[in-house]
Parts: sequence; C-alpha cells; structure tokens
Amino acid sequence: MSGLYARESRSVSTMAHLRFFPLAVTGGSGAYLTGDDGRRLLDFAASWGAASLGHAHPAVRAAVDRALSDQAGASYLSMANDICVLLAERLLALVPGRARGRVWFGHSGSDANETVARMVVAATGRPRILAFRGAYHGGTVGSMAVSGHPAQQGLRAAGLTLVPYPDSFAAGSPEAAMQQALAELERLFATEVPPHEVAAFFVEPIQSDGGMLVPPSGYFAAVEALCRKNGILIISDEVKVGLGRTGRFNAFGQAGFEPDIVVFGKGLGGGLPISAVVGPEALMNHSSAFSLQTVHGNPVCAAAALAVLDTIERENLVENADRTGQVLHEALTGLASKYAIIGDVRGRGLALGVELVNDRSTRKPARREAALAVFRAFELGLVLYYVGVESNVLELTPPLTLTEEEARQGVAILDRALGEVTQGLVDHKVLDGFSGW
Ligand SMILES: *Cc1c(COP(=O)(O)O)cnc(C)c1O
Repeated sequence: MSGLYARESRSVSTMAHLRFFPLAVTGGSGAYLTGDDGRRLLDFAASWGAASLGHAHPAVRAAVDRALSDQAGASYLSMANDICVLLAERLLALVPGRARGRVWFGHSGSDANETVARMVVAATGRPRILAFRGAYHGGTVGSMAVSGHPAQQGLRAAGLTLVPYPDSFAAGSPEAAMQQALAELERLFATEVPPHEVAAFFVEPIQSDGGMLVPPSGYFAAVEALCRKNGILIISDEVKVGLGRTGRFNAFGQAGFEPDIVVFGKGLGGGLPISAVVGPEALMNHSSAFSLQTVHGNPVCAAAALAVLDTIERENLVENADRTGQVLHEALTGLASKYAIIGDVRGRGLALGVELVNDRSTRKPARREAALAVFRAFELGLVLYYVGVESNVLELTPPLTLTEEEARQGVAILDRALGEVTQGLVDHKVLDGFSGW
C-alpha cells in the first residue's frame, strides 16, 4: 500500500464512511478496481451498484466528453436543456403503465425519495406513509424519515408506519412469510392506521440493504390490491435493483405489481450522480419550485445516464444480468452445499445475497463471520460488502457487464475466504476500525 488509506484519515471526514476493509483505489476499468498497491480487485459491489456499466466504460466517457465540449449550462431549474429532455423522453418510453407521465431529476436516491415523500403528502392531503422495516430509502433527513433501516441515525416521520417485509428464509417458507406480512398489514389497516389517511406505500421490489429479501410470488399483487382499494399510491424504489439489474428492465413488473411512481438512482448515472422520479402528470406537476437543487438536471450527468440506457440496450445487459446472474447464483448455491454457514442464497439477476448463519435450524445471524469473509475476500482480490438488519448477508451487485468468467473467478475467491473464515484462520483483530453497519 502507498499509505493512501492512512492519509485519507488525516484529511477526510468519517461521516460518510461505511468501511469494511482498508480499500484505497487509484483507478479502475470494467469490473476491476486498481488498488493503491497496484493490485487489481474484482468488484462485486460496483460502488453499491452505482457503477452499473463497470468502471471507465467507453460509452460513458464519450457521452460525458461530448456534453462537456459544448455544455448546455449546468442546471434545468431556469432553462430547458436538450439532454435532460431526451433522457426524460427515454425514461418515459421505458416505464410502462400508470407511472408514465413526467420525470423529475435529482442527484441521488435520497433527494428523489425525499421529494416523493413530501410530494405525495402535499398532493393527496393524506398525512401517513407506509414503508418496510429494514428499508433504506436514503441518507437525508426527509428520506431517512420514510426509511426503516436500523443502521440509520436519523428521525422517522411522525406519519410513518413500518410494516414487515416478507422474509421467506426467516419464516420457513415463502407462503408463511407472505401470510404473516399480509396479516400484519391488514391488522394495521383495521386498527391504528386508517387506510384513507395513507398517502403512499414506499416499496422495494427486492429489499436490498435490508438483506436482499426477494418477495414471495403473489405478495406484491396482494399489496397492490389493498392499496388500490384504499386509494394508496405505490412508489417502487428501484434505486438499487432497477434498470436491468434483476434480469428484467423494471423490477416492479417482475415482482408482479404496477407502481404509481418509480424512483431510479445509483446505476442510472453509471457512476455520475443523477436520479429520476417517473410518475403521472397530475402528481409530478403538483407545484413548481417545490423541490430543486441548483445543479439538478445537469446535462453532463444526464448525458452519462443516456449513455447508460443506450448501452444497456445495445450490449443486451438485461439479458446478461439474467444469464450471468444465474451462473453466479448456481455457483453460490454450490458453496452452500460446502459451507454450513451459508443459510440461504437468494436474489434475482445480478442482485444477489448470501445469508450467513451460525446454525441452519435456528438461523442465528453470523455477523462476525460475514465481516471476516468480506475482509478476507478483499485481501484475496474481491470487493463485496454485507447488508441486512442483522449485518449477516453478503451482497453481490456487480457491474451489469460482468462476464461468466469473472463471475466464476469471484466465487472462487469467496470460496477460499469462507473456507478460511470457517476454519478460524482469519484473525478477528483485522476488523478493528471496520465496523461496517
Ligand atoms: C442507495 C439507495 C437509496 C439512496 O440512494 P443515494 O444515492 O445513496 O442517495 C435509496 N433507495 C435504495 C433502495 C437504495 O439502495
């Protein structure tokens, strides 16, 4: 190492840190990052999915270069710019159903969800919002207020009610998980949460930061029916799992429901900051000057997003996510037959989770082992993190461009890391200073 990691600690605040190991990088290309020690690391995290096309994709570089060579301003607040209009038109063509109407652009999943949370309450006059326990909708005051992830250090909104996300592994079966989750929702509607007071339900078609939970089939159709009956808007937060990652372009369709509003972020910009909300005109034109930040609608970020959408189509990356995701899923399932610590392998496409447990029957979370496994994998050349309300689910959100060969290489590293961790060969002291979440 060149000492970059230590130097960072003398100049950069820790407030945005979520660290699992001392990774310091100086570059990257495709599915690989370059460490400051010159090592090439296979990246199964893709900066939490933001580097959707991997690093330094030529299409993103060319689009950014073009946009900066004849720059249509820096913002869409007080003027229209061509690239944002093109991007909006493109997104509307890609989102079918009742959400197709107008597009709002922001910088991040957080500002997008915060905007939606304020807008649905203002537009409907209903004060309540539903979200899932374990849900991560962002890191700003307004987006944390409608989230349910236990790691967040922020206040929840007064009108927020958190409901359980169906967890098939914890419940023993998808049917049991679905029945429990729906029963709780119906109980709330019959008692403390009058449904006519609920403006909207924020849902994740796969609950990623809460543990990569895949909903039982039929669950979201039942939720949709309850919401429609009561005039409750459904917001699909596709910030992490949308735009092809699950092996379908829209994760909501795959999960069996049609949202009123769809939120995109992370991978939309292919590494540049941009988010988008797509929803019906009547809601999206609720009021002007309602939610704006100076460089919202930045044409350089919008150009990167257009290049991402073009590339997903041109390189058939939705199919790649599906196919490579299956290879990855099967290889991980193979590891589960080798290591008893793997309780469950789940996910769709290139949004996968591996839940580690100390005992398959009690499903006691193997938190420390998850932290050790990602640490050891990093030492061996693979970057991935863990998620989950119990911090025991390894998360795989590699670039959508991942090849089958890279998928196998990564699993081989994970195999070795898990082997060493389960044999007690990794010193627990390595985790000092790397508390993760
Ligand atoms: C990451 C994430 C967000 C927040 O996005 P930021 O870019 O960190 O603001 C919102 N929702 C989901 C589902 C996410 O995974």
